[in-house]
Amino acid sequence: MKVIASKCVGCGRCQPYCSARAINFHEGISKISQDLCFECGTCLRSEICPVDALKEADDVFDFPRSVRKFFSDPTTNHKETNMPGRGTEEVKTNDVTNRFRKGELGIGLEVGRPTVGTKISELEKITMALAKEGFNTFEEKNPVSGLMEDTKTGKLKDKVLGERVLSAIVEFTIKESELKKCLEVIATISKEIDTVFTMDLITNYDEGMKIRVKEELEKSNFSSRPNAKINIGIGRLNDEEA
Ligand code: SF4
Ligand code: SF4
Repeated sequence: MKVIASKCVGCGRCQPYCSARAINFHEGISKISQDLCFECGTCLRSEICPVDALKEADDVFDFPRSVRKFFSDPTTNHKETNMPGRGTEEVKTNDVTNRFRKGELGIGLEVGRPTVGTKISELEKITMALAKEGFNTFEEKNPVSGLMEDTKTGKLKDKVLGERVLSAIVEFTIKESELKKCLEVIATISKEIDTVFTMDLITNYDEGMKIRVKEELEKSNFSSRPNAKINIGIGRLNDEEA
C-alpha cells in the first residue's frame, strides 16, 4: 500500500486501521513502511481517507511481494487452495475431509497475529526444524507448503524469506506414537522464533469421551484448551463410501 503524498492532508485517520503499525507521520503527512506493510488492504477497504490518498502499490501482485497480499488480505484467494486469508481448509476439518486416519494426529501451528505478524523466514525455521526430525508430512493443500522448495527438508523458496505476513498456518500430520518427540521439537522451536504462535492438536475422542493426548500434553508442560469444531451441512462421503 502507498500514500499519494500530493493528496494526503495528514489527518491521521488511516493510522489506527493498520494492524501492522506501518503507517506513520513523516513531514506532516502519512507514509507507509513497505517493510512493515502486510498488504492486507484494510486501510483502503475501510474507505477512511477523506481525499482518496491511499492506493495499492503497483507491485502488490508481483511475486514475491504478492505473498504478503495472499496471506493477509481475506478478499484474495491463494492459487494453491483457491481459498482466502491463511488459505487452508485446515487439519481441523478432519472429520469431513479425512486428512488423517486413526492412530494419527493433525498439528497446526498458527504463526503470527495482527500487530505482530511473521516474517516468512520464521516459518522456514519451523518447517525445517520439524522436517529435520522427520515431521515432514506437510498438508499439501496449504499455501505454506506451496512456498516450499523441498517438502522433505521444509526449505522454503529463498525469494520469499524476506516477506512479512499477518499470519500463516503450518500444518502436518504425525503418528500418535510420535507426539512426545514432536512436542519436544515444538518447545525448542518456540524459543528460537521471533514471533508468536499457537499450536492446534487435532484428534478424536476415545470411547468414554476421553482425550488421550491431553495427558501427554500435560506431561510435556503444554497447557491445553479442548475445543470442538462443528461443521454443519458441509459433510461429504469418505473415499471408501463414495
Ligand atoms: S495494507 Fe494493511 S498493513 Fe499495509 S498499510 Fe494498509 S492496513 Fe497497514
Ligand atoms: S487518511 Fe488519507 S489524508 Fe488522512 S493521513 Fe491517511 S492518507 Fe493522509
